[in-house]
This record gives sequence, C-alpha cells and structure tokens, in this order.
Amino acid sequence: MTENPDGTDEAVTGEAAVRTTDVTRRHGSGENQVLALDRVSISVEAGRFTMIMGPSGSGKSTLMHVLAGLDSPDEGRVFIGRREITEMSDKALTELRRTRTGFVFQSFNLIPTLSVEQNIGLPAQLAGEKVDADWGRTVTERLGIAALLDRKPHELSGGQQQRVAVARALVNRPAVVFADEPTGNLDSVSGAEVMRLLAAAVREYGQTVVMVTHDPGLSVYADRVIILADGRPAADLTDPGPEAVADTLLHLNQDPRDEPLPFREQGAFAR
Ligand code: ADP
Repeated sequence: MTENPDGTDEAVTGEAAVRTTDVTRRHGSGENQVLALDRVSISVEAGRFTMIMGPSGSGKSTLMHVLAGLDSPDEGRVFIGRREITEMSDKALTELRRTRTGFVFQSFNLIPTLSVEQNIGLPAQLAGEKVDADWGRTVTERLGIAALLDRKPHELSGGQQQRVAVARALVNRPAVVFADEPTGNLDSVSGAEVMRLLAAAVREYGQTVVMVTHDPGLSVYADRVIILADGRPAADLTDPGPEAVADTLLHLNQDPRDEPLPFREQGAFAR
C-alpha cells in the first residue's frame, strides 16, 4: 500500500477508513451464548457518511464497538485506516482511539463540572495534545456554539449539548467519528439539526462518519446504509431513500410463504 504524501498511515477519501475481515463476536457463555456478529467483512470508505441499521438485537452496537476498538472480536481482523487494531497492545489502541477516533453518544456524555470549551478540549488534553485554535473556532462557529464556550452543560438545551459533543468529536480531526443513536434523546427539530451538522462535516470537511441508528428516516443523510440481520450484513444500500430502507427492513428474512393470505382465503367468513 502506498504512503500518503504526509507519511501517515491514514486512509484518504475513497479508501477504507475502517474495515473488518471475518469478524465474529459472541456474547455470554454456554447455553446462553449469543452470536452477535457472524463472520462480518465490511469496508467503510473514508470521507463518507455510513449508517448501520437493523432490527433490535441484530448486532449494530456490537459492530460499532468492534469497529471503534471498544470491544475485541473473538475471531477476525479490524483495521482503522491502514492499521490493524486487532493486533495492537491495549496502550497503543487507547492512544489510537484518543487521537484518531471521535464519539457521539445518545446521552451526550459531557462532563458536568467542565465548561463547554473544556469539554471540547478534553480528548486532546487526555492525548497530551493541544486543540488547533483556528480549527476549534471554525468548528464551534459552524456548529453554532461559539457563544456558549463558558457555559456548563446543564445550562444548555439537549440539542446544544449534542452539538458540543459533535464539536468534541470533530476537533481532533479524527479518522472516523462513531455516532451511536445521536438523535435518540433529542426532539425532532434538534435531532434534524444535529444530523445536518454531522452530514455537513462529511461534505465540507471530508470527515468519515459511521452511525448506528434504528430510524430509517435518518437515511436521508447517509451515503450508504448497511443493514444487519442476525449478526450479518443483509443489505448494502447506496444513497437509499427512507422508503427503500424501511422496505428492506420490513422484508428482512421474510419467507415468501409467510406473506399473509388474501383476506378471503383466511377463512374468516368461510363456512
Ligand atoms: P443491536 O445494537 O442491533 O440491538 P447488539 O449488538 O446490542 O444489537 O446485540 C446483538 C446480540 O448480542 C443480541 O442478541 C444481544 O442480546 C446480545 N448481547 C449484546 N451484548 C451482550 C452482552 N453484554 N451479554 C450478552 N449478550 C449480549
């Protein structure tokens, strides 16, 4: 594989920002063991907005945790950029997570005692780095939170708190931002605003975003939707509309013989 001009091992747009080969993850043990991921091989392109959808229990969270290096697979390999994280030491992986990944959670996960500015700078501080001041200003202005930097999280609305979390995720210029149901705790207006801003980070800054959601309506913001069923990719849709996603989810694993019979054949009125 060729080196980037800057000599890093970062993926560039069009290359895989994250990928897995034959990843299997089981939870529990003995009779209660669950196969959460079943030999999953996927590749997520850099500079794109990829969503992972699927029914509850299909393995979405497990896949995101494995992709982000928060959980290790039982079998298979995971790469962030050109680096295989499944062979890294815990220390190297923690370092890579701090410097090269950003997270946006459903519950915002801001530190209540720190100001907005301190929250945004925290990952950089933990990694022993400084936030690039110009970039920090660009991001906070673009996210509409530049006037809130001295506030504490409890002084902000949910939508504002999630925009702070997005700023915190973007400010290190990570290789990948992982978002887990980022609109789950927001009203529809604030949720749409957060989605527009995440999508803008992809279009305007070339950010790679991988997001887990169960909401087909959010697929309007995605370049690609990977649908999981029973721990395996069941569909891979490019630029799908919400109807196509909802339709695919509805028909997952449906045996054609399970189609409801026409009303008159159900015997409701049969004698
Ligand atoms: P999703 O995010 O799509 O709802 P998950 O990845 O959370 O799916 O779960 C996939 C499967 O693994 C489910 O059957 C779930 O019950 C099981 N599972 C997830 N985490 C654990 C765990 N810590 N212990 C036991 N089973 C788990």
